[in-house]
Amino acid sequence: MTTATVTAPLRHNFINGRWVASRSGQTMERRNPADLREITSIAPLSTREEVRDAVAAAKAAFAGWRDTPAPLRGRILGRAAALVEKQKEALARTLSREEGKTLRESLVEIERSINILEFIAGEGRRLGGETMPSELRRNLAYTIKQPLGVVGAITPWNFPVAIPVWKIAPALVAGNTVVLKPSELTPECAAQVVELFGQAGLPAGVLNMVLGAGEEVGDELLQDREVRAISFTGSNEVGSHIYALAARQMKKCQCEMGGKNPVVVLRDADLELAAQSVVLGAFGSSGQRCTATSRVVVEHAVADAFVARLLEGARKLKVGNGLEADVDVGPLVDSQQLETVLHYLAIGKKESRLLLGGDRLSGPAYDHGYFVAPTIFDHVPWDSVIAQEEIFGPVLSVIRVADFDQALRVANSVKYGLSSSVYTNDARRIFDFIDRIETGITHVNAPTVASEAHLPFGGIKATGVGLREMGRVAIDFYTELKAVYIDYTSLPA
Ligand code: NAD
Repeated sequence: MTTATVTAPLRHNFINGRWVASRSGQTMERRNPADLREITSIAPLSTREEVRDAVAAAKAAFAGWRDTPAPLRGRILGRAAALVEKQKEALARTLSREEGKTLRESLVEIERSINILEFIAGEGRRLGGETMPSELRRNLAYTIKQPLGVVGAITPWNFPVAIPVWKIAPALVAGNTVVLKPSELTPECAAQVVELFGQAGLPAGVLNMVLGAGEEVGDELLQDREVRAISFTGSNEVGSHIYALAARQMKKCQCEMGGKNPVVVLRDADLELAAQSVVLGAFGSSGQRCTATSRVVVEHAVADAFVARLLEGARKLKVGNGLEADVDVGPLVDSQQLETVLHYLAIGKKESRLLLGGDRLSGPAYDHGYFVAPTIFDHVPWDSVIAQEEIFGPVLSVIRVADFDQALRVANSVKYGLSSSVYTNDARRIFDFIDRIETGITHVNAPTVASEAHLPFGGIKATGVGLREMGRVAIDFYTELKAVYIDYTSLPA
């Protein structure tokens, strides 16, 4: 285990192009979840007034930014991509120390952020509408995409670099100005992201960040009438509250929330491939991914053989401090997440057959952090608590079914609908699965957790409301369409 050090930076808000100390006088201390002796940052619990300052700065910067040609806005995002690339090793270390995921996982998250920045930078040259024929002679009809104004981004801790980037980048390229409110648990990553955008050449006020509590800083963003849209990623509990509040204010709103992602393994599947992929999807990032595999739905005919491979793969995982090179699974993010996971482990032990793990880890390598053993429950009833609720930890439920139709029914039986996957080589089953699975993202013979920057990302049912993030469609949330009719009959010949 790494020796604890105390080198905690004191973080400030970023308002109108400057780092500004909060006037609240209250701070929050963040510690490395793998080694609680290490303070990773001290950040302010900002006031509502400071949110209003940030919104005012964003409002003042809007006209200048809106009038900056979109290709030039995109160029700044391109420069941000290059800066992230240059600093990715250092940023990855910050991410692992603050959030807990392994260095390898942090680097993947940062690569994804670079991909998003590069892709969205190009959108600055494609920000067009449509030209359509008019019903009238000598008339021209077309649409243009226009920015909304000041937009708010409220983000979670589990992708503390990529999620702010995938909200900020499309908002900016479309000509909006932004106030970011990152998770209380990851202020250091957020500050470094904002700093990189600043270094890329954003004018003052175009991107602002206020650190603090959701109930104060996040709520004030929702209440402020100058904020025209809110992009939120986080829990269903908070998301449904935000969606209702936004509706009352007539604010545009997108919420990306929880998941309970299934992998379906059919009798003809490559069981080795499926088992490897489920191990990665279930236990990578300690299961704290919205796209994590939390259920595996397997046909009876191959269930024993599949579970044997699954166990073999999961037993090889090394749990520990994500900064150490050979570690596969890091800690949970904080004591609350630990408590939640332990609560579900207790329920699972009553509802199902425990095959692996099931407890908090102890010993010299674990006593200073929030470590839980990779856990597998077998013979899990499809409608039990652990098969239905999002746990957000390294906990996998194996649900055995008779056939493909039952597998689909079980896979679709949860309230969520983010990601899914099927393992089979039966072409008809593959297309039936794609047509009938109720998720916003689906994979065939691949883990539930992958996604690419130029494809839409988001869920259906209780997972997602509002327009999709990432891909070209990301721009739609951050723009209004204006229909233009030009009658040129009377223009001088
Ligand atoms: P959370 O809902 O607790 O917090 C998310 C953000 O909302 C934080 O910045 C928080 O401060 C803020 N917030 C809290 N209360 C608020 C309020 N009353 N008003 C305004 N803002 C408020 O979520 P979390 O624990 O940070 O993240 C984990 C959750 O995020 C999981 O449920 C996970 O599935 C989900 N998630 C979803 C996706 C997706 O794309 N679907 C991606 C990543 C994470």
